[in-house]
Amino acid sequence: MNEELKKKIEEEITQFPICEYAFIRPEEIPFSERVRYICETECPRYGTSWACPPAVGTLEECRRRCLAFEDGFIFTTVSEGADLENMDAMLAMRTDHEKITRRIVKMFREECREVQAFSTESCAICEHCAYPDAPCRHPGYMLPSVEGYGILVTELAEKHGMSFLNGSDVVTWFSLILYTAKENMR
Ligand code: SF4
Repeated sequence: MNEELKKKIEEEITQFPICEYAFIRPEEIPFSERVRYICETECPRYGTSWACPPAVGTLEECRRRCLAFEDGFIFTTVSEGADLENMDAMLAMRTDHEKITRRIVKMFREECREVQAFSTESCAICEHCAYPDAPCRHPGYMLPSVEGYGILVTELAEKHGMSFLNGSDVVTWFSLILYTAKENMR
């Protein structure tokens, strides 16, 4: 792990309203065919977005892409007073997490040579995704979902002592950022 970059990120991350974070190694990310199976059989977004399977590639391709990065950063935000039955309210809460994620990704892009970020659920930038008829309209902005890559994010979080059950009316949102340091920081 690049300790100089880690220190810089730890200084900058204090400006963001996140709950917990951890630095991880890409090699420790758990991938699961089971997560991919749930995407395929239970998620209505499967096969409808460039951010989801099968467009993101096979599990092995996703794993290889992740392993190409040097380091990783996982963080959570929480939404309190969540009404799980109220989809509009849940969507607004998720949007808040996505906005924070984009600000943090921007910070990583300024500090690192390469960055790949993943966020919650499927990409919702466009009202109708261009998949499969045309290329993604915002490839540099779109964030694939952690689940779509087959990543067992709760297992990864648990390994680093992060809590994902924070109360019956609390939703915990996860994002994962993989990054490689700039040449001058090696
Ligand atoms: S940015 Fe638009 S076209 Fe690209 S994955 Fe997201 S919704 Fe689809």
